[in-house]
Amino acid sequence: MRASASFLALLRDNPQESHIASHQWMLRSGMIQQITSGIYAWLPLGLRVLNNISEIVRQEQNRIGAQEALAPTLQPASLWKQSGRYADYGKEMLRIVDRHDHDLLYGPTAEEVFTLLFRTHIHSYKQLPQCLYNIQWKFRDEIRPRFGVMRGREFLMKDAYSFDLTADGAKATYAQMFQSYMRIFHRLGLTAIPVRASTGPIGGDLSHEFHIVADTGESEIFYDAALDSPMSGGGIRERMSDFNGFYACADDQHKPEACPLSGEQLRTKRGIEVGHIFYFGTKYSEPLDAFVMDQKGNRVPVEMGSYGVGVSRLVGALIEANHDEKGIKWPISVAPFAVAIAGLSKGTEDMAETLYQSLLNQGVTAFMMDLDQSAGKKFADMDMMGFPYHILIGSKWLSQGLLDIKIRATGEIISCTPTDALSWMMDRCAPEVISGKKRPGSSEPLAG
Ligand code: ATP
Ligand code: MG
Repeated sequence: MRASASFLALLRDNPQESHIASHQWMLRSGMIQQITSGIYAWLPLGLRVLNNISEIVRQEQNRIGAQEALAPTLQPASLWKQSGRYADYGKEMLRIVDRHDHDLLYGPTAEEVFTLLFRTHIHSYKQLPQCLYNIQWKFRDEIRPRFGVMRGREFLMKDAYSFDLTADGAKATYAQMFQSYMRIFHRLGLTAIPVRASTGPIGGDLSHEFHIVADTGESEIFYDAALDSPMSGGGIRERMSDFNGFYACADDQHKPEACPLSGEQLRTKRGIEVGHIFYFGTKYSEPLDAFVMDQKGNRVPVEMGSYGVGVSRLVGALIEANHDEKGIKWPISVAPFAVAIAGLSKGTEDMAETLYQSLLNQGVTAFMMDLDQSAGKKFADMDMMGFPYHILIGSKWLSQGLLDIKIRATGEIISCTPTDALSWMMDRCAPEVISGKKRPGSSEPLAG
């Protein structure tokens, strides 16, 4: 994409309504625009990130055999009356009446709809287990929408629903989902802390929330300091596989007298809840009549769980975890564009164009800073939008045939030839590298 042809919506000043860094940078870099309280339009730059996150979630859910479907945003009230939640859900539910006087609601979650899909088509233990998910907009009429997409009223959620014959089967599915969530957050470049949680209005008896540690988080969490160490997602995943490898609790589950940790070992931090998983047995299958025939020919209610990821909230959480005073520092896995290219002085345009075309030809997402602007303005905008790698073509190119690669995350600058710059970028930004299908190249920073 060329800056000159793109829908750039950069704001020069800090919008008044933004109180946290992620909200500020999302508005300033032109990712979102508020349409009304808690409701946002996604602009092209923001949508690219949202879609990249969705795709990682999708791949990891598919990997454990969950199947993607798509529920409608509007649901009939009658279904929620059957489950008993229509009265319970309260003012967060947006209720709508259609022209025929039928009561509808904008789904805040979709246990009822997916249970309906299940009960229509699945009748025998032989067809179990099943797990469906969708990535769909939800609406909750939050009393205090704030922090931009972190607590919106309309927000994008990945929600999955599992159906097993037995409680043990359902718990095994839950454990698989737990692992899938750890993989998702790991691929997003985030350290997620899985904490024991209460089940709230969804109900049930086994539940974990996944939190990203950030001072601006709305929850307080208590956990073993070992979970903070970047001893790679893998090691943590292994030890968490029975959920008891580490002490980690949401605030309403934390009992100081029962906590085995003390002093340095116990971390008390603020967290952003980016995922929440539940095992709730037959809470919905019984009232909604989702029964299957078991091996003995008995009709039994199916054992269920549900599993949510806050996809749009993750955009904010990622920025909270990856920014500085100049703007966003996107992890490569979700960056809207992997590389920005800037010609900084007259006579560098041809080289910029050649590199841009070469990167595009190899499938690298490149953003060409081709507006007639000062070098300083280009630096500031590239930093703000958070592209992971910048190729800077300036006087060194004209005098010595060298250009600079800037690594946004560290500020490190590497001088090299255009050929070396291209192979360096391919090692890190080729589609198969970003998607994890190929290992990142090992080529070390090249001497200038
Ligand atoms: P919270 O405690 O933050 O209100 P919740 O516990 O009500 O969230 P869940 O029902 O567990 O939310 O929904 C699954 C996920 O959806 C949450 O973990 C969160 O990441 C995301 N989510 C929930 N509410 C919002 C919202 N208002 N805006 C953005 N994301 C949300
Ligand atoms: Mg929750």
